[in-house]
Amino acid sequence: MNLISIFSKYPTQESCLEHLETVRWGDNPTCPHCRSDKVARKNELDKVGRWNCHACKSSFNVLSGTIMQKTKVPLQKWFLAIGLMANAKKRLSSCQLARDLDVRQQTVGYMQTRIRVAMVNRERHLLQGIIEADETYLGGKPRNGLCRRLGSHQHD
Ligand SMILES: [Zn+2]
Repeated sequence: MNLISIFSKYPTQESCLEHLETVRWGDNPTCPHCRSDKVARKNELDKVGRWNCHACKSSFNVLSGTIMQKTKVPLQKWFLAIGLMANAKKRLSSCQLARDLDVRQQTVGYMQTRIRVAMVNRERHLLQGIIEADETYLGGKPRNGLCRRLGSHQHD
């Protein structure tokens, strides 16, 4: 378990957003509503990570359409929750996770449910991108099917 690397690589909301943009879009940001690539980053300082779509005129960020959409929980806590859950040998209690992350238990329950769903559906690559940030993180022998899937590389 390497929480230190998450803390040091993603110290701010901005750095988390930036990382998610790379994992989700690479060099081709696209509108999650209409899939157009005619998009531009907003420049307002209070709208960090917001984009405008010139095709459908909507505004979005990298979280739109993901489990972290409209979340009020800092992204670093999501990253930590994902890392902790992916590495856990047993199901983590929401009580424990709430203490670890300093988030209300109800909120943690909601996060856990969404993360569990995302781990087995199309958002897996996004989570994978978060926890593979440190190559040693999921190194070693896979403990079970979930770890194996999360540990496999799908960059190509
Ligand atoms: Zn659009």
